Amino acid sequence: MSHAYNADLISAPRLLLGPGPSMVHPRVLRAMATPVVGHMDPQFFAIMDETQALLRQVFQTENRLTFTLPGTGSAGMEAALFNFLEPGDPILICVAGFFGERMVEIASRVTSDVRRVDATWGQPIRPSQVEEALRTRPARVVAIVHGETSTGVCQPLAEIAEIVHRYGGLLLVDSVASLAGVDLPVDRLGIDICYTGSQKCLSVPPGMAPITIGPRAEEVLKTRKTKVQSWYLDLTLIQKYWGTERVYHHTGPISLQYAMLEALRMVVEEGLPARFARHAAVAQLLWEGLAGLDLRLFVPAADRLATLTTVMVPEGVDDLTIRRRLLEEYNIEIAGGLGALRGKLWRVGLMGYSARPENVMTLLGALDRLLHAH
Ligand SMILES: *Cc1c(COP(=O)(O)O)cnc(C)c1O
Repeated sequence: MSHAYNADLISAPRLLLGPGPSMVHPRVLRAMATPVVGHMDPQFFAIMDETQALLRQVFQTENRLTFTLPGTGSAGMEAALFNFLEPGDPILICVAGFFGERMVEIASRVTSDVRRVDATWGQPIRPSQVEEALRTRPARVVAIVHGETSTGVCQPLAEIAEIVHRYGGLLLVDSVASLAGVDLPVDRLGIDICYTGSQKCLSVPPGMAPITIGPRAEEVLKTRKTKVQSWYLDLTLIQKYWGTERVYHHTGPISLQYAMLEALRMVVEEGLPARFARHAAVAQLLWEGLAGLDLRLFVPAADRLATLTTVMVPEGVDDLTIRRRLLEEYNIEIAGGLGALRGKLWRVGLMGYSARPENVMTLLGALDRLLHAH
């Protein structure tokens, strides 16, 4: 396998097939070499405006408050939880894996009233669980992960969205591993707060978290009684930089912003339906190929996330040995299991520019060789 990279810093470029970062398209890498301008330069404001317009298309929303935050997906998570919760506010968190747990950890730094509903890792949250919890006691925010990267489950959201709104809550969705890879119509589902990360299905290097805030959530921002605990992630202050006021808040990550714009242009050029179909088809190719190698998948077909596949490590095979050899002998990165699934699972990401048939065939070929020789 050959890659046309500048190898000054990296002697062995990798094929990135883990849960992120994903491969970055050469067009996006080239955009990052654009001369740096100031964060208050009118030319940069034009880039911010186009980015916002394209982000609205990708989130499938008309939300005014739609922009990128400096920081990775977890900054998006922290902003989403900090801005819509005040000390003592009730939040209900759906926990079906590692990233649901992270939401609990972050929310509990703001409010003492954190409740949770749990699903066994590998299964989605059932709408009836949310309904039961809210019937007992409403919550200001209900938070849920769309694509749970630790398990490979894609969480259905339509019924849960309806329930959350019926009980007067805000629906907060983590789409870090799914946005631009799996259909997520923010406005049609009535999602109030949604964030993602740059380095997964958008195929931008890590370091930015796009976020969108709906009108109901915007109202909550306006009526807060206390200041947001984080000055850096205070969405109202950040909006003053992204909106017409153009008030300096922080120095935007200029080169990453170039990359984001170019990547968003590529998403829209491809078209969302075609992009979702590509991710689905490439995942299907992987699933069939893995079955052909007698490997079992962790998640039943109906609940599977196209952008991240969880594979059971076969009996008698050492997880780490295979992953080390994939990396050292084939320059392929995949990931292992998190938490209780450590050593039991491989996690294969097919996100954005990584989601191509030739990458699937490369991985399957390498796995075939390594498992045969084992
Ligand atoms: C990767 C990921 C995150 C965290 O993103 P970072 O960029 O690592 O901070 C959050 N949620 C989900 C579902 C993810 O896959």
